[in-house]
Amino acid sequence: MIKTLIAIVAHPDDEISTGGSLAKYAAAGHRTLVVCATRGDGIDAKIKNDAATRETLGLVRQQELAASCAVLGLEPPIVLGYQDGEVDAVPVEAAAERLLGLFLALRPDVVITHDPSGGYAHPDHIAVSAFVTLAYHKASAAIGSAAPQRLYYYALPRSFGQNLAALRDRRADIRGQQLGFVGVPDEHITTEIDIRPYLDLKLQALAQHRSQFDFDESGQPKTFTTSLAEPERSQLFGVERFIRLGAAEDRSVDEQPERDLLGGLSYGNL
Ligand SMILES: [Zn+2]
Repeated sequence: MIKTLIAIVAHPDDEISTGGSLAKYAAAGHRTLVVCATRGDGIDAKIKNDAATRETLGLVRQQELAASCAVLGLEPPIVLGYQDGEVDAVPVEAAAERLLGLFLALRPDVVITHDPSGGYAHPDHIAVSAFVTLAYHKASAAIGSAAPQRLYYYALPRSFGQNLAALRDRRADIRGQQLGFVGVPDEHITTEIDIRPYLDLKLQALAQHRSQFDFDESGQPKTFTTSLAEPERSQLFGVERFIRLGAAEDRSVDEQPERDLLGGLSYGNL
């Protein structure tokens, strides 16, 4: 049976973090799409390659998101239109109600979003994670059988920050603050998806965000991850990691991570 997966993210290009998994399930015939909270045109947003002006940035980034999703084989994205850089000013109850309406319309089986740390404590990421988590908890009572069955947070293990100097030293300039990598406790990771067969697609999708990256002579986007040498690059980029809400409690420490976002959900005859 075809399942529906949606990834709810804060900004255009955040979908790349879980893009390999989205591409993988789309390629397997599942309905897969991105819901993006903002147009990515806040005051902290960069403009590279003369790809936009301050005035056109929101439109350009929406187009880049759509192009990225098309490369990944997903349905066209939905943009909620919250103001980039101010998502945490939105009342969490109101945002969760809106997401419940979206769940009712899309009937997702699986929802993916930012981990509650926001990866590097980006306030917009943390807010979106909170909205989605509240909506997920309310869903069974509010919308019955349309409620998603699973919520996954995509996340990087905290040990990566300890072991990788480049990640540890990386800073994002957000609202005048230099935000560093936070990640999640390693033992909270429940799920690892091998996306190496989709790595090329993921890089092609990343390259659609022309307004956000510098490019090398061969046309590859220059990002933190693409700048790493092997094996760190594969470690960071070839596997996507998740926390399945509610799964951590029943796992013993030495249990292998699950390898399928849909594992245990009925597949029917797909
Ligand atoms: Zn973001």
